[in-house]
Amino acid sequence: MQNSKDEVFEIINDEIIRQSEGLELIPSENYVSQDVLRAMGSVLTNKYSEGYPGKRYYGGNQNIDKIETLAIERAKELFHADHANVQPHSGANANEAVYFAWCKPGDTILAMSLPAGGHLTHGSPVTRSAKVYNFVGYGVDEAGDIDYDDLERLAKEHQPKLILVGYSAFMKIPDFKRVREIADRVLEKPEETILMADMAHVAGLIVGGVHPNPLEFGFNVITTTTHKTLRGPRGGLILSRGKVSSPLHRVDHTIENLPTLIDRAVFPGTQGGPLEHVIAAKAVAFAEDLQPEFHTYAENIVKNAQTLAKELESHGFKLQGGGTDNHLILVNVKDSFGIDGKTYEVALDKVGLTLNANALPTDKGGAFRPSGVRLGTPAMTTRGLGEAEMKTVAGWMKQIASLCAKARKGKPDETDDEALLADYADEFEQIRAEVRDLALKFPLPATGC
Ligand SMILES: *Cc1c(COP(=O)(O)O)cnc(C)c1O
Repeated sequence: MQNSKDEVFEIINDEIIRQSEGLELIPSENYVSQDVLRAMGSVLTNKYSEGYPGKRYYGGNQNIDKIETLAIERAKELFHADHANVQPHSGANANEAVYFAWCKPGDTILAMSLPAGGHLTHGSPVTRSAKVYNFVGYGVDEAGDIDYDDLERLAKEHQPKLILVGYSAFMKIPDFKRVREIADRVLEKPEETILMADMAHVAGLIVGGVHPNPLEFGFNVITTTTHKTLRGPRGGLILSRGKVSSPLHRVDHTIENLPTLIDRAVFPGTQGGPLEHVIAAKAVAFAEDLQPEFHTYAENIVKNAQTLAKELESHGFKLQGGGTDNHLILVNVKDSFGIDGKTYEVALDKVGLTLNANALPTDKGGAFRPSGVRLGTPAMTTRGLGEAEMKTVAGWMKQIASLCAKARKGKPDETDDEALLADYADEFEQIRAEVRDLALKFPLPATGC
């Protein structure tokens, strides 16, 4: 980065320092390898390649076709899928494309509601898709698991065209087989309804063998991001089972033809030219995910999450769903320490521990000051932190929570978090130094320099 004078590169250097000296607890983030960065920063970004391998709307795609084909073949192998579309620019685009592939405007989609742990793209009223389709939301039960009876009742009542299982803040492993059975039992025309799993958070656990693969339990399609547990570039991916026709072929609207309907829904349906530099980086990441070491990585994510959850509980943190079966941990800081998630997020940021405030299923009203925070272990596990370090992290989290609680007691009505926490700057600085020391012992896999 030394060779350019553009101040952007100075800021990128600052970001390298921020990432190196802190610990990433945000469950949707990770660190990529040097090879993934190299592919992403390549001249492939110069190329237009609308279409699919062998059927492009531009010349000069002989190398691009080989790269995209590699990405597709590797993705299929990872998920035991008949078909992969590697072009979605993001997880949100992947979801949008599947809805568009299968549903008509006004059709009903049954998905986990946002307060229960679903994702914004699963029908939040602020999204485009919620204005086009009729989303109905199922909830979670007291134990934090999917309320399967609610799901069954709603499926029977609304006869949805798409049933979606997927989440951003849910700590259990869904029973995909049970959802398939419910669909077969209550749908009057099962051939008109597809089952979709949005596995954005746990895709890496699936390919690492520590989470079931929905495609093996009668689900028709998986969407995922590629930058979370799959440890690739920012992007989306769609995997499906069915008959693969030649790209962009016009086909009948049947579940069997879903792969081709999806291709057409991605391009030209919802996107233009694919990001082939990102697709190359996806291909590189997928090759890494196919290695036996990736299984160890996935196992360690879960082990670290369970250790972290147990330690947090021993420090008095109340956890949604009583812990975690995947890698997502949702902490109720309101009930545990009388503080809100936003204050706690701001305080943790001061010491170099990054996570996000998150609503709990019981939260009402605005999401800016929810009662919880969400965290996870994929990024820390990539850097090599293990169970001993999880205990250290939990200890820091307890110290910070106690400082926040003290600050809140002193100023019950303060709305500015900086002002609220100002009296404890020395304590934060002390912990910040400890976090930095530990973080620097576990370097980033790649900095791109
Ligand atoms: C992260 C996430 C997405 C969205 O991915 P983007 O790449 O941010 O668009 C969609 N669904 C779920 C369940 C997610 O966790």
